[in-house]
Amino acid sequence: MQISDTEGSLARTFFSPAHRRAAEVIKQWMSDCGMESWVDAVGNVHGRIRSIREGAQALLLGSHYDTVLDGGAYDGALGIVVGLAAVKGMLLTEMVQRGWVDRLPPQPAEDKDGDIVIPPTLASSLLTLGSVHLVAFTDEEGVRFQSTFLGSRAVAGTLFKYNMLASRDASGTSLEQVLRQEGGLTDTDPRVALAALALDPASISEYVEVHIEQGPVLEQRGLPLGVVVGIAGQTRLWVGVNGTQGHAGTVPMRGRRDALAAAAELVVAIEALCTQPESDGGAPEEENLVCTVGELKLWPGASNVISGHTGFSVDVRSKTDPVRHTAVDRLLAAVERVCARRGVACRVDRKHDAAAVLSDPRVIENMSAAVRMAEPILLAALTAEELERSCGLLKGLQSVPVLVSGAGHDAMAIAETIPKMGMMFVRCRGGVSHSPLEYVEPEDVTASTAALASYLWGRLAGGMLSNTQPEAAAEAVEEAEAVVEEAVAAEAVEAAPSPPVETEAPAVRDEL
Ligand SMILES: [Zn+2]
Repeated sequence: MQISDTEGSLARTFFSPAHRRAAEVIKQWMSDCGMESWVDAVGNVHGRIRSIREGAQALLLGSHYDTVLDGGAYDGALGIVVGLAAVKGMLLTEMVQRGWVDRLPPQPAEDKDGDIVIPPTLASSLLTLGSVHLVAFTDEEGVRFQSTFLGSRAVAGTLFKYNMLASRDASGTSLEQVLRQEGGLTDTDPRVALAALALDPASISEYVEVHIEQGPVLEQRGLPLGVVVGIAGQTRLWVGVNGTQGHAGTVPMRGRRDALAAAAELVVAIEALCTQPESDGGAPEEENLVCTVGELKLWPGASNVISGHTGFSVDVRSKTDPVRHTAVDRLLAAVERVCARRGVACRVDRKHDAAAVLSDPRVIENMSAAVRMAEPILLAALTAEELERSCGLLKGLQSVPVLVSGAGHDAMAIAETIPKMGMMFVRCRGGVSHSPLEYVEPEDVTASTAALASYLWGRLAGGMLSNTQPEAAAEAVEEAEAVVEEAVAAEAVEAAPSPPVETEAPAVRDEL
């Protein structure tokens, strides 16, 4: 099944026809899992099963169902499908354990795929430890309004803080207008209506997201799944360079104040700064410092004119904030130096700053244990040929690497108010994403589902989690704690205030 606004490629953007159709399909899948399901005013699709335990917190699962234009099938959607399959798998496992399989009502005959429909009361009675709440987030990519995390910020209760209602799409329509027309935002004060969409952080035990890695690390290491230790912080700058426009034929080379040549020198200087080895005063490799100039504009942009004005974006990310701040400081110094030497006027605007977010050590620990425990489920779910084809899948599950996410995810927005979060990354071919070439092996999808089902079973229904394989679990805890400790220590060092920020409403694309 492919739900897209375009033929021959994949595109689902905020409140487009395909976006709405996808929401309806997800809502139905949620109901089939025994969830009470609904679509909220910004287009998030919710599914919830309340535990029979009075006052139990809910484990929040989520990912996004929008895509970029000409996107891939797995970015976002994988987390929703795996989440739903894991919930269903966990409920069925618990049913088998209790000998309750005969409590399932007769299944619809047309379900030839073996899809089982679980009634809500039965689902609820199986959750003895905690509730489960799955959200398929709307508009994570920010294609229509150029502002990411719309859905997850609504759930976190931070939409208003980010001033997102005033954002306008290409046709000039504001988000507030769209929500009034399409989303059923009726309250005269949108603040009240939006506040009602936020989940109470006290009602949530943790947030868990499964996502494709969108990078090459897992594939390079030959491992199907990884656990995310944190999401890199990010600084986005816009550098404007003002030179002197002139005739390409008549102005001598000496004395030119060429804005494009200055920008070119800066682009190379920025790359050098972020690739500098540690032995040469650069950041250690494990800090995942990356700097990118991805957009460049020049004026007037003609072959016979010396450029008078150039502007370019700089995107700086790192696992630890002090490393990122140091890189930005050095970068600002380089801009000053190069511009002074070339006699051009430069100005740097700080467009966006997001602190690194760390995963919860306990979630990391339990998730690592759950990955190691996925083997029996995989042995039952996959055929011998599939296991053979997957080349060492089972062995790969016994080694769970901890990774840093360089891309922003809904988890980042959720963590603003619900601090206990964790993510599982799934290997993708060539690390390719935001492309029709995005691909995840079906066996890896099954592996992530089995791991998440183990996690849910342990947290919600009293299945075994870290106790079944004490040695492996202890090792995972040690590995995870070491990485988290290191990251926390680095954060503590960050006593010095970050450089002054020229604040603008961060209604810019924060991701990707
Ligand atoms: Zn995504």
